[in-house]
Amino acid sequence: MKTINDFNFRDKKALVRVDFNVPQDDQLNVTDNTRIVAVKPTIEKILKDGGSVILMTHLGRPKGEIKDEFSLKHIINEVSNVLGQEVKFVEECIGEKAEQAGAALQPGEILLLENLRFHNEEEKGDESFAEQLSKLGDAYVNDAFGTAHRAHASTAVIAKFFPSTKFFGLLMAKELQAIDKVLKSGEKPITAILGGSKVSTKITIIENILPAVDNLIIGGGMAFTFIKALGGKIGSSLVEDDKLSLAVEILGKAKEHNVKVYLPSDAIIAESFSNDADRKEVDIYAIPEGWMGLDAGQKSRDQFNDVLLNSRTILWNGPIGVFEMSNFAAGTVALGDSIAAATRLGAFSLVGGGDSVAFVKQFGYGEKVSYVSTGGGAMLESLEGLELPGVAAINK
Ligand code: AMP
Repeated sequence: MKTINDFNFRDKKALVRVDFNVPQDDQLNVTDNTRIVAVKPTIEKILKDGGSVILMTHLGRPKGEIKDEFSLKHIINEVSNVLGQEVKFVEECIGEKAEQAGAALQPGEILLLENLRFHNEEEKGDESFAEQLSKLGDAYVNDAFGTAHRAHASTAVIAKFFPSTKFFGLLMAKELQAIDKVLKSGEKPITAILGGSKVSTKITIIENILPAVDNLIIGGGMAFTFIKALGGKIGSSLVEDDKLSLAVEILGKAKEHNVKVYLPSDAIIAESFSNDADRKEVDIYAIPEGWMGLDAGQKSRDQFNDVLLNSRTILWNGPIGVFEMSNFAAGTVALGDSIAAATRLGAFSLVGGGDSVAFVKQFGYGEKVSYVSTGGGAMLESLEGLELPGVAAINK
């Protein structure tokens, strides 16, 4: 893997694709700077070498139009604050103005280009747009894991204009290494926990990880399709009736791969999908009519805990209960505690993709696991076994 550590950027202008698609409030203030903080090590390394940095990113979905609310001028202060130095800004990303600003940049300085998606050509992967961007820098660095699954001009196409000076940034490298650590070089036993609402959105992931893992814990809404397929009574719990035979098929494939599958054995059930609903704990195969399972019960939590404490590598994707409602968050909290405990015992734990990342941040588990992925869709596609265009473009 060719990373920025393989190059000395002295007197070079590094064109760095970052993912500063940050959340903002009504006044357009940045409300979560995680994505900016995440690329700091890459920028620092280039500047320390004696190079300069030209940052390019998208923000929101302006769809090829110049719209003030999506201008990167609104995030420039936060970028400066995080990076601890002045960040220059140019209100274009290609053309004369951008080229002049790039040419004037001195070693040690940082320039932020205007929103790439003010041009339709970015998302279309337009080659001449990519070429115009490429004129701004001597080297290309991709540190935008969050958009690495897109074949856009700045994330993939541009790489061809830097045949020998294209590199992964340190964040990209960390993300790719974390996935490898689970799926390719993970210390055994390896346990994957898949939760969330639907089986249908996780099938490709399940099929891709079966050859790599030893244990598969299935929880959350998607577990009920399996329980029903195994003859359980699930009341009005979430279910995909058209996926019952697929669930049986998955269990068969797991057996072929010698993967032990752990389904919940009990559930916290409720009379309606509401935090204030009446609730009780029951055997997951005997949920009364009119009741729905919204969280894992104590026996399930204990069993998952036993499996996790005996694991050396852990992958977690998807909550095992409706954690957004406080009365149904305890199962996912217990799972977070078990993963944290296993990590303290020396296991490598990766949390990736969507709602489990939101959970980990909201409930403060970020420091208690080994790695929290910064890219939702990109992480899911990696777990599905797809080669990301942004990764392929550098490896090629
Ligand atoms: P996903 O986006 O497929 O990973 O699903 C995440 C969502 O699954 C979260 O919003 C959870 O509230 C939801 N979820 C987890 N467990 C259940 C359940 N037992 N019933 C319904 N939804 C659930």
